[in-house]
Amino acid sequence: MNIDRNPTREVRIGTAKIGAGHPIALQSMTATQTKNIDATVGQINDLADAGADVVRVAVDSNQDAAALPEIRRQTKANLAIDLQENYRLAEAVAPHVDKIRYNPGHLYHHERQKSWQEKVAYLAQVAADHDCAMRVGVNCGSVDPDKKTKYAGDDTIRPMLDSAWEHCAALDELGFTRYCVSLKDSNPQKVIDVNRRFSAQRPEVPLHLGVTEAGMPPDGVIKTRIAFEQLISRGIGDTIRVSLTVSNPRKPEEIVAGRKILADIAMGRVRSVVDYGLDTLNIISCPSCSRVENEAFIELAEQVKEMTRYAAEHAITIAVMGCRVNGPGETDDADLGLWCGPQYVNLKRGSEAMGQYPYDEILSRLKSELDALIREHRDRD
Ligand code: SF4
Repeated sequence: MNIDRNPTREVRIGTAKIGAGHPIALQSMTATQTKNIDATVGQINDLADAGADVVRVAVDSNQDAAALPEIRRQTKANLAIDLQENYRLAEAVAPHVDKIRYNPGHLYHHERQKSWQEKVAYLAQVAADHDCAMRVGVNCGSVDPDKKTKYAGDDTIRPMLDSAWEHCAALDELGFTRYCVSLKDSNPQKVIDVNRRFSAQRPEVPLHLGVTEAGMPPDGVIKTRIAFEQLISRGIGDTIRVSLTVSNPRKPEEIVAGRKILADIAMGRVRSVVDYGLDTLNIISCPSCSRVENEAFIELAEQVKEMTRYAAEHAITIAVMGCRVNGPGETDDADLGLWCGPQYVNLKRGSEAMGQYPYDEILSRLKSELDALIREHRDRD
């Protein structure tokens, strides 16, 4: 298949180049504790051996940041760091990595007296000083709160677009153009919509594509494939990640799945679109990363899938998230949400908190809520 790629500009990430017609780069993210240097280096190298062009590592604490020099010493992989609220960690890690990813929605939590523009200027300067590329990573579950209030609650696309465009404009004004953008949602149709609309307005900005919390294989791969087929076949996308809920030793499956999707699209082996979330049960779960505080999360995600099979015909979305950083926000749009803490699992119905339960009790609590929801749907219909 001859695909006319969008005329994006080139962005270099270490030895990898994205945009400007370069082959679509594959990325993944470590799920080890970043401060555990041996485990993190092992996983980075496993991912690189599987063909990852860039490997992302979460940095949430001074301990994580302190591990980066040694991690850098032990691997040749192109490294990206994932910053959350503590954006100031950038200067400690930038000398040791090739790319900095920040989330516009997370620039509000620390140093509230400073504007987001000042924080972006700081990040751009740190990136420029240390030869790093940047990713503006907009995520459906943690959109800039100011943007959210401007639009109706069911319009989740415009707040993401406004936030991305605004940050691009700010970086352009600073003269920092070595960046790409990502706009991620757990719903593949929304990923298609938001990326198409973004690239129609900013066709020169390289895009990193992904369906967040896609879940376990094979469903997670199928959801991602749906979005990628529709976007890449139209020339949109310069780098991708397939986010899967799998245990640490299986993380390289993200790269294998990504390569297969790209090869199939290139050969025209495109599947028909499945309309997720409309009239069947939709289980979404995060791909897990170093922020997971209890590894029982992976098993729990599998148990939720098994336990809820009986509800397969119901249009209900259940989200299972691995941590307190993104879990509370990213479960808001699900009918039922679980997010995992070290000892307890938090249960939500929409944005309403239903309580915390031990890992061995949460499945029965979830089943009660699911049964109640099914009854309500039946009464309503
Ligand atoms: S929800 Fe938390 S544990 Fe899961 S991928 Fe996102 S940050 Fe990592």
